[in-house]
Amino acid sequence: MENSTKIGIRLAEVYTVGANWNINDVPAGKFPNLKMYYLPLMCNHCDDPPCKKNLPAKITKRDDGVVYLNNNKGKKEDTSACPYNRILWDEKSKTLIKCDLCMSRINEGKQPLCVESCPSKARHFGDLKDTNSEVSKLVKEHSAKPLFPQLNTKPSVLYIMPRGSENKAVGDSPI
Ligand code: SF4
Repeated sequence: MENSTKIGIRLAEVYTVGANWNINDVPAGKFPNLKMYYLPLMCNHCDDPPCKKNLPAKITKRDDGVVYLNNNKGKKEDTSACPYNRILWDEKSKTLIKCDLCMSRINEGKQPLCVESCPSKARHFGDLKDTNSEVSKLVKEHSAKPLFPQLNTKPSVLYIMPRGSENKAVGDSPI
C-alpha cells in the first residue's frame, strides 16, 4: 500500500519452509512430528549490493544503508541484477520496482510501513551499527542470521530462526 504496487507485484513475499525451500512447501518430518515455518523474502539492502554493481546508473546506496532505484526505466533483464530476485518488473508500465525501505518515511524519523503495520511485531528496524540499539540487541540475543550468506552480499536483513531450528541456516528445512 505504501508503494501503491499493482496486483502481482510483491516487494515482500512469504515462502513456506518445510521439507524443501519452496513456495507451497510440504511440512518436514512424519506425522505427528511435522515442522514448518514461514520465511519473508525482501530486499536485503545489502552492504555490498550486486544490484549496484550490475546497474550502476540506476541503483544508489545511501550512507545509512538504504539501497534504492534512482531511475526505474529499464528492461526486464535488469531484474537479474539481484541474486535474491528482489528487483521486480512491471510489464504494464515497463518499469523496474524494488523496496526502498520506505526511505521517505525514514527521512521523517518513522519506521518502514511493513515494520509499523505488522500486528504481530514480527519485524524490527533500527541501526545495526549502533551496538546499543534495540535491533542490535535482538540480533545478538537470538544470533540472527542473513539469508544465503554464501552470496557475499552482506545483507542488512537478518532473521531470527524459529525455536528448534536455531542451528539451521535461514531457508533450510526445519528438520
Ligand atoms: Fe540489491 Fe538484491 Fe541486495 Fe536488495 S537484495 S540490495 S536488490 S542485491
